[in-house]
Amino acid sequence: MPTFVHTEKCDGCKGGSVTACMYICPNNLMKLDTNRMKAFNQEPDQCWECQCCVKACPQQAIEVRAYQDFVPMGGAVIPMRTDSAIMWTIKFRDGEVKRFKFPVRTTPVGSIDPYGGKPAPGDLDSNLLFTETGKTLPTI
Ligand code: SF4
Ligand code: SF4
Repeated sequence: MPTFVHTEKCDGCKGGSVTACMYICPNNLMKLDTNRMKAFNQEPDQCWECQCCVKACPQQAIEVRAYQDFVPMGGAVIPMRTDSAIMWTIKFRDGEVKRFKFPVRTTPVGSIDPYGGKPAPGDLDSNLLFTETGKTLPTI
C-alpha cells in the first residue's frame, strides 16, 4: 500500500525547497503543497513501498499502510532513523507498543574515505578496469 502523510505532523521540512521525502524518493513521488506546507504522495499507484521517505522524514509524518499478513488492520510499523541507528515502533491492535532499535553502521558518519588506498583515476582510453592498474590483458 502506498505512503500517506499525517498532515498534523508534517512541517514541510521547515520550508526547505526540497524536502527530505522529495529528495529521497527514487520514484519522485513526494510533493510539497507550498500553500499548506504539507507533503503528499502525488501518484500513489506508482509507490513501491520502499519506505525510503518513511525513514527519512524527520517528523515521522509518513506512514506505509502495510499488508495485512505483515501488519493486521489497526496495527502500525513506524521507523525512525538517526545517523547511527534505526528504531522500529510496532503498534499492536490491542494498543500495545514495542520498540526495537538496531545499529545501522559501525563507523562515525563521514569517516569513510571510499577512494582511500585506491589508485588515482586512470586513463579512460585504457582497457584496464579501475582495479587492474599494471596488469596486462590477455590477447584474444
Ligand atoms: S515509499 Fe518509496 S516509492 Fe513510495 S513514496 Fe516513499 S520513497 Fe517513494
Ligand atoms: S519529510 Fe516529512 S516533514 Fe518533511 S515534507 Fe516530507 S512528510 Fe513533511
